[in-house]
Amino acid sequence: PFEKSKGQHILRNPALVDSIIAKAGLKPTDTVLEIGPGTGNLTKRLLESGVKAVVAVELDPRMVLELSRRFQGHPLSSRLKVIQGDVLKCDLPYFDICVANIPYQISSPLTFKLLSHRPIFRCAVIMFQREFAMRLVAQPGDTLYCRLSVNVQLLSRVSHLLKVGRNNFRPPPKVDSSVVRIEPRKPLPPVSFKEWDGLVRICFNRKNKTLGSLFKQKRVLELLERITRQCNLSNLPKNLKWARRRCHLMMLQCWPIWSRT
Ligand code: SAM
Repeated sequence: PFEKSKGQHILRNPALVDSIIAKAGLKPTDTVLEIGPGTGNLTKRLLESGVKAVVAVELDPRMVLELSRRFQGHPLSSRLKVIQGDVLKCDLPYFDICVANIPYQISSPLTFKLLSHRPIFRCAVIMFQREFAMRLVAQPGDTLYCRLSVNVQLLSRVSHLLKVGRNNFRPPPKVDSSVVRIEPRKPLPPVSFKEWDGLVRICFNRKNKTLGSLFKQKRVLELLERITRQCNLSNLPKNLKWARRRCHLMMLQCWPIWSRT
């Protein structure tokens, strides 16, 4: 009785669960955030890996019940806290690292929710739908390079870790998956994300004919200037240089996309 609407596809390959755990680089001092633990296959391995604590957020009360049954009397259950609720709506607890096989319909809002959480986490190892994962890691010139790639890469380093076929799940989803690592940049660039995203939106709007005509528009130039000024406000010279370069790079990067349209 798994619910498709909740993206309930249970990981049933123990070797795959182990490689996800191995790739996460867990430390004994870590508090791990798990999103959508389901029946707890990943949760169990996380607990056994010897981390300090696992906080799991699960929407479905039936799964929460199943989890509490599974870990009742388990020697490591004192390290597990299950929160019942919608991860997009609840306040996230403190966590050092996030490890999760998530419902794919929340991929984008969840990624940005994690990246705007403070204090910023060390690393996230997350299973995404293959195409979403490829968009996350796409580089300028790739067909999948898009606003999501620019924005996530502004705030973090992303790398593709594992390709995962649909038959590793029960029931199998319609699409293949990939595990991705997201490591927030430290320090984060000192730019207003809202304004940055405003510029990126304009840049990736295919209705715009050319970059040149776009950057002649007063409102675009003003936005660009504000963003550059924000970068100037940084008291960290390295960071400043990086943010400026990033800003210019982004504009160059958009060029192949326009020139195709
Ligand atoms: N982690 C388990 C595994 O790997 O076997 C199950 C993963 S399954 C793909 C996704 C889980 O997320 C389901 O248990 C589902 O009930 C839960 N879920 C769906 N939407 C959610 C939300 N908004 N917040 C928290 N959990 C959610």
